[in-house]
Amino acid sequence: MSGRRFWSGARGQGAGIAFLRAHVGHTGEDCLPWPMSTDGRGYGVLGFEGENYKAHRMMCILAHGEPPSPLHQAAHSCGNGHLGCVNPLHLSWKTPTQNMADSVAHGTARTDRGRKRVKLTVEQVQQILALKGVKSQQEVAEIFGVSWRQIGKIQRGVSWRGGQLHKPGFKPGDPRNPFTNGPRIKGRTVSAT
Ligand SMILES: [Zn+2]
Repeated sequence: MSGRRFWSGARGQGAGIAFLRAHVGHTGEDCLPWPMSTDGRGYGVLGFEGENYKAHRMMCILAHGEPPSPLHQAAHSCGNGHLGCVNPLHLSWKTPTQNMADSVAHGTARTDRGRKRVKLTVEQVQQILALKGVKSQQEVAEIFGVSWRQIGKIQRGVSWRGGQLHKPGFKPGDPRNPFTNGPRIKGRTVSAT
């Protein structure tokens, strides 16, 4: 993102940017809720030239400067990112591992338990990779709401390659596919009645 242009442009779409600028020196202790659009998770978003930006991340850049690395996340000390908090004093740059540890402490880590399929975002996979050796696969699985087998596969690089989820499977007609002739239990074909 071209930072200077972002902050100086904004003709007719500057309401969000104006709000961030007006509150970059905010000293209130309470959370500062984003007054405009939010994403599906409750985080503030602002549109600029057809792109959506995360409001808390933009506030973190304004208040604390650019992130130390592209992987750094604008973390909430209050744990209220999902409530749209953009209080600059509640934001700081943290690594995915540090941020995830905070989420667990705040109880805001998403578990998504009970869902049949959980799609992991690139961001989440980066977090899962960062947690390798830090937390057990069981713990990481609990945080992301996926099986520990999937965590193991991701951390071993089996099911996530080059930023793309790799779906291991059988090509149509492959005789090794155990589901070709109905479900099989321990090598024996059983009728699917
Ligand atoms: Zn807050």
